Amino acid sequence: MAADDIFCKIVAAELPSTKVYEDDDVLAFRDLHPAAPTHILVIPKEHLTSLWEAKEDQAQLLGTLMLRARDVAREQGLEEDGFRLVINNGAGAGQTVFHLHLHIIGGRSLAWPPG
Ligand code: C5P
Repeated sequence: MAADDIFCKIVAAELPSTKVYEDDDVLAFRDLHPAAPTHILVIPKEHLTSLWEAKEDQAQLLGTLMLRARDVAREQGLEEDGFRLVINNGAGAGQTVFHLHLHIIGGRSLAWPPG
């Protein structure tokens, strides 16, 4: 489905990004306003507004996003210290870009629950 959000524009290379991983289905790039030394966003290239809109036949894509996030985190050297994977799902949960994305956050100590 065509959409006009910022991340669709990044996928289409209409906006710049610092890519760290790309394949046919997934793009990962550095967050413009990092909340940690490593802060990378992993998105489906196909537009998906949020988890609320995800369909059963997108289950494989959702799993692939997690596995690629894991791989990116490993490539970024986070295997020893670990990382946090965050999805802000819906405006009330802090979602500001309405194209599903996983935040990989790492490289500093992370308290739980977050503030
Ligand atoms: O989960 P949420 O929707 O709040 O996250 C959006 C993220 O996208 C923010 O961390 C913001 O810094 C990032 N962003 C970006 N590049 C843009 C626009 C937003 O990295 N051009």
